[in-house]
Amino acid sequence: MTNSCVFCKIVSNEVKAEFVYRDDQVTAFRDIHPVAPTHLLIVPNKHIESVSALEEEDEALMGRLFSVARKLAEEAGISKGGYRLITNTGADGGQTVFHLHVHLIGGQRMRYPMG
Ligand code: AMP
Ligand code: ZN
Repeated sequence: MTNSCVFCKIVSNEVKAEFVYRDDQVTAFRDIHPVAPTHLLIVPNKHIESVSALEEEDEALMGRLFSVARKLAEEAGISKGGYRLITNTGADGGQTVFHLHVHLIGGQRMRYPMG
């Protein structure tokens, strides 16, 4: 937990979010500024700043983020049509919240850069 991190605060219920999935390792909630009909954020419950801060011990946790993404895409009914998973990394990568997260975006034909 990092005191100033908004996603840590969402995981610990200090900041409200619209949760779509929670377990002991992973939390998913709706993005506050959706760029498509489905726009979810999937985060590890433990604070990891970005992909650049990953350690070997986090490998299983990263796999779990993708498993949750697959499950949520199925639940949202966008598996067949397809969807986009994005993990912005660092300032030049467009990351604005420095708690690692996977965007699950879908429900329309994707454009660039997001949604
Ligand atoms: P990124 O630019 O990849 O770091 O993405 C950060 C995402 O977090 C953006 O799409 C924001 O809209 C979203 N976001 C920021 N604060 C919140 C919040 N309190 N609840 C839900 N989504 C948020
Ligand atoms: Zn955090």
